Amino acid sequence: MAGLNKVTVEDLSVKGKKVLVRVDFNVPLKDGVITNDNRITAALPTINKLVENGAKVVLCSHLGKPKNGPEDKFSLAPAAARLAELVTAKVTFAKDDTVVGDNAKKAVAEMGEGEIVVLENTRFRGAEETKNGEEFAKELAQLVDGEAFVMDAFGSAHRAHASTAGVTKFVKETAVGYLMQKEINFLGNAVEDPVRPFVAILGGAKVADKLNVINNLIEKCDTLIIGGGMAYTFLKAQGKEIGTSLVDDTKLDYCKEMIEKAAKAGKKLLLPVDTTITKSFPDPIDAEIEVEVSETIPADMMGLDIGTKTQELYAEAVKSAKTVVWNGPMGVFENPILAKGTIAVAKSLAETDATTIIGGGDSAAAVISLGFADKMSHISTGGGASLEYLEGKVLPGIDVIADK
Ligand code: ATP
Repeated sequence: MAGLNKVTVEDLSVKGKKVLVRVDFNVPLKDGVITNDNRITAALPTINKLVENGAKVVLCSHLGKPKNGPEDKFSLAPAAARLAELVTAKVTFAKDDTVVGDNAKKAVAEMGEGEIVVLENTRFRGAEETKNGEEFAKELAQLVDGEAFVMDAFGSAHRAHASTAGVTKFVKETAVGYLMQKEINFLGNAVEDPVRPFVAILGGAKVADKLNVINNLIEKCDTLIIGGGMAYTFLKAQGKEIGTSLVDDTKLDYCKEMIEKAAKAGKKLLLPVDTTITKSFPDPIDAEIEVEVSETIPADMMGLDIGTKTQELYAEAVKSAKTVVWNGPMGVFENPILAKGTIAVAKSLAETDATTIIGGGDSAAAVISLGFADKMSHISTGGGASLEYLEGKVLPGIDVIADK
């Protein structure tokens, strides 16, 4: 199995100890109500294990991007309330604008074994959190008497923040949780030791966002499929007319280089052979628009989804795969008329027996909303983190955890 040689939550002896756990409770909220609690349920195995083993479990997480310090709309209170519904253990929310102030200290001092305290949003400490401030990292560690820290926030593992990385300097023991283990095992195996054929599918808006992912995956996979807005820069690099489609002219040489690199390495690089085109970008995004499917894109039209032949081509490639990794939608899926390509790819993944891994973000949301979630082997909880993993980067939040 590709490389997780880290101390895990199972290796710790936690009875009676205070354990700080960095979870990813960065859930979507609408008017204070959680619209998707996947990230909370994904953290339950680690939380329950620690509770069962008699730890005093102190959870911390960020939520959203509060710019002006503590603000009620970014409070972790709704996440704590949801957690309380999902576990049998007692859950106390430590409302505290400084995260680790008197309220937090009191809650932790009063907690019993097998109980849970949820701290307030770590980003209420602003740059102290995001710039990995040593003082805040130390305060977090002191809250659990410098005993133990478990990292289970895969979605934040690509950031070296006080609560994901800095804190480890001030605790005796560190470990990864079950969610981290699962994410690392699926993504790590897929990239480093895949059962072949290995097909990688990349979509989304911009080539520039995924330069290193494309580069790394061409080396690792057998077939790389490109869709979404980023496909047009590749098509233009091949000398094709792309009309008014999204393009990054500064990346044409890069795309040429990638096309050559794939050819030299004997890898298949699949690009759209037809396109769903329209006159202009829908406004609002889900507006009813007239579209046609065409093998060529006229100068005054733009491509907003892969066409039907491309859907078949991509589905065929998925059928012959044993491992599939997918990140990024195939078109402007927010509009049902332009979601067909994304749905077709999601369906092809749902129908295969291959190991299927969804790399977070929009593609994860698409798979879940289409009802295909339980058909996938793994849906990553981290968009940015899974992308950086697919780039072959070492994530700081994994790196800081002790090796076995
Ligand atoms: P995340 O960072 O959340 O993981 P992602 O990698 O899944 O995101 P993004 O790069 O953010 O994807 O791109 C998603 C956006 O790309 C969607 O909003 C979609 O509408 C847009 N998009 C897809 N195809 C096109 C296209 N042909 N033209 C313009 N925009 C497109």
